[in-house]
Amino acid sequence: MSKITPLTFGMSKLHIIEDRGNIIVDTGCIEEKEKYEAAFAEIGIDPKTIELIILSHGHWDHYARANELKELTGAPVLCHKNALPAIQTGKNSPMSPRGEMGKRFLELIAHELNVQMEPVVPDIVIDSTYDLAPFGVAGKIIYTPGHSECSVSVLLDSGEAIVGDMIIDSPFTNIPCLSLIVSDEAKLRDSLRTLLKTTHTFYGGHSGPYTKEVVASLIEKTE
Ligand SMILES: [Zn+2]
Repeated sequence: MSKITPLTFGMSKLHIIEDRGNIIVDTGCIEEKEKYEAAFAEIGIDPKTIELIILSHGHWDHYARANELKELTGAPVLCHKNALPAIQTGKNSPMSPRGEMGKRFLELIAHELNVQMEPVVPDIVIDSTYDLAPFGVAGKIIYTPGHSECSVSVLLDSGEAIVGDMIIDSPFTNIPCLSLIVSDEAKLRDSLRTLLKTTHTFYGGHSGPYTKEVVASLIEKTE
């Protein structure tokens, strides 16, 4: 049975999935490799046992430290093909606000969006469902667009999923909401509906985890 451990680095999370093999999802956004080494040591993970680094999407706070993590672990980096324009240039995949809250949120983080990140060259580029069994993990990666057009989620056979930024705690109210930044809001809701068929626990890239009941109610909310 797989075990998920979220580790927070700066404003975002890295998730470690331990199964017969170990993989990680996203990188967090810190500067120093030593902090990764210390955090992995604290939970008893040898970085060299990590066999894959999955990038949930091409926003800087999710892929920023991929090069350091690749060096530390020796693992290949995987992303969706639609993430290439962002991560290969160190930029962000396009962001549009969802509603008034989304506009306020984009204003709030505007100063961070033009940061030039170190470009990342992925080793594995996917454009369809990807089985994680070869990495010793019972689960798969599925394409879940809507927050961005390059978003993927890691769906485990246990019924847990790591879903990037599809759901967040609102920076204004601190209560769960659908992402305030979208590429396509209808696709975001559809992607969550797809995940809900098999998922009972949703791990977010900044917050959570969230129950399926919470996610189901957010999908139906219109604001
Ligand atoms: Zn994002």
